[in-house]
Amino acid sequence: MLNLEGRVAVVFGVANKRSIAYAIAQKLAESGCTLAVGYQNDRLKAESESLIAGLPSAWSFPCDVTSDAEIERSFAELKSRYGTIHILVHSIAFAPAPEIHNDFVETSREGFRIAHDISVYSLIALARAAAPLMTGGGSIMTMTYYGSEKVFPNYNVMGVAKAALEATVRYLAVSLGRRNIRVNAISAGPIKTLAARGIGDLGAMLRGHAERAPLGRNVEQAEVAGAAVYLASDLSSGVTGEVTYVDAGYNVMGF
Ligand code: NDP
Repeated sequence: MLNLEGRVAVVFGVANKRSIAYAIAQKLAESGCTLAVGYQNDRLKAESESLIAGLPSAWSFPCDVTSDAEIERSFAELKSRYGTIHILVHSIAFAPAPEIHNDFVETSREGFRIAHDISVYSLIALARAAAPLMTGGGSIMTMTYYGSEKVFPNYNVMGVAKAALEATVRYLAVSLGRRNIRVNAISAGPIKTLAARGIGDLGAMLRGHAERAPLGRNVEQAEVAGAAVYLASDLSSGVTGEVTYVDAGYNVMGF
């Protein structure tokens, strides 16, 4: 395990124990990071706080990323607690259910806006708030999916949002690079989480993925977390603006 002692990591997107963000928080804690974990609202407070209680030195705070005021308040609190932060994990996505289930051509203006606000713009807003606290450089990462590049049934507006998210990673990498802040995405294979269960016929997706992927199986949250720790560490000091695939190799297949 890498040693990240002395680093402060801020993680957004822990909903429950299956969340990719929870696996990342666990591995960062095992590596010695001090952790601050953002959860969306009071509905998630009890679950989030009970999970976080199991991680040494972790603190959790509410932050709905659709609110500029909540982001500002959260980072003011982070500044007064820690002064400097080193790692930001953005593991957040949302689209209204009809936008996922309807025929893509029926995508509504409001559904498109919400999906992009929560799943894409929030990365820009969090990066802008985090950058002044990353005085010694930093690593920012987000979670994406191959539906950004190829069409997957039922992924719909979320595929368009993930394409925008990956472009956002590249633009942020340039915007923040001279401050030695790196920005990357991890493209995870399908994993049964709360968010993924919103996508229709996840079972078929998991079976098809395991059949076709070079490794002949699906990936687990802990494997995504392994890549996250690498991106958080100095081992990836020359890597920015990239999409790293943790998908058992699925994306290299043509047929
Ligand atoms: P989870 O449902 O566990 O995590 C999604 C998180 O986003 C939840 O914590 C959710 O909170 C949070 N969120 C949604 N809206 C807001 C908001 N307004 N403010 C703050 N937080 C919000 O699922 P995953 O762990 O699967 O998803 C994490 C990321 O990984 C997403 O970006 C997803 O697209 C991506 N990903 C997932 C894959 C998979 O197959 N599972 C594959 C590839 C990428 P709440 O529960 O309150 O809505």
